[in-house]
Amino acid sequence: MGIATRKRREAFFQKNPHCVFCGGGTPATTVEHCPPRAMFQNRHWPEGFEFPSCDNCNHGTADHDLLVSMIARMDPFTEAGDRDGKLNGLMHGVHKQFPGLLQKMLPSAVEARRSNREFGISPDPGQTHQEVGVVNVTDEMREAVCVFARKLAKGTYYLHTQQSFPNEGCLLLKWFTNSDLLLDGRYTTFDLLQHMAGEVPPIQRSGRYLGDQFEYKLSLSPDSDILALQAIFGKAFGLVIFGCTIPGKLEASIERLREQNQNDGPFAVLQSRSLRNQIE
Ligand SMILES: [Zn+2]
Repeated sequence: MGIATRKRREAFFQKNPHCVFCGGGTPATTVEHCPPRAMFQNRHWPEGFEFPSCDNCNHGTADHDLLVSMIARMDPFTEAGDRDGKLNGLMHGVHKQFPGLLQKMLPSAVEARRSNREFGISPDPGQTHQEVGVVNVTDEMREAVCVFARKLAKGTYYLHTQQSFPNEGCLLLKWFTNSDLLLDGRYTTFDLLQHMAGEVPPIQRSGRYLGDQFEYKLSLSPDSDILALQAIFGKAFGLVIFGCTIPGKLEASIERLREQNQNDGPFAVLQSRSLRNQIE
């Protein structure tokens, strides 16, 4: 490590002494990139998305980062997800860390034909339905997206408030794949939230626009105790995260929704003191 790099690191940890991913009480020893660098073409990750992290929080999610980076590059319309030619390498990595997963993601010929008919996809000459079909969402993918989403929520919260999201706070996730895009041309979940005020920061590196790969809108209450994060990853998937730093508040609204039997779809619990977490 050169002197300039070491000085930069020292200054970074002086300014950001604690890990932002485990509540703010653990000293930071590493710099975590979230979203992961591999998600971006040529590893041109957006400026400012570097976070102080403890060793556990940084390296404990390497496999999930790999899988999410691969998923985020999937594009049913163009080859845009593989402009840098790195997708194959990511798939090899995923195959090594999650044996059998790629096969599980690939729809059977019958499934592919059925879903392609539903989405109006027709294979080009020489292509099979399976090759152009929508992938199956597996438990491994769900878990990886949950782990990633929890980090992204905490990272963006820190970026906008300079505070760590507390361990007793609650984070809930709803995510969706590009099947909405195929059916409706847009992510319909965002329609419900389009009037919510929030910040949409430019995602870029050295003036290069990266919003085609990652874009988000963060809404925060005036005292930063409630957050709503909406994010899109290329043409691959989107997510909405609701968070509250005060324990019990968000949990109560979810319970109310369930009592009223509103079909608001299932939320994945990323963090909560009282609701059972779907990931640990
Ligand atoms: Zn940590």
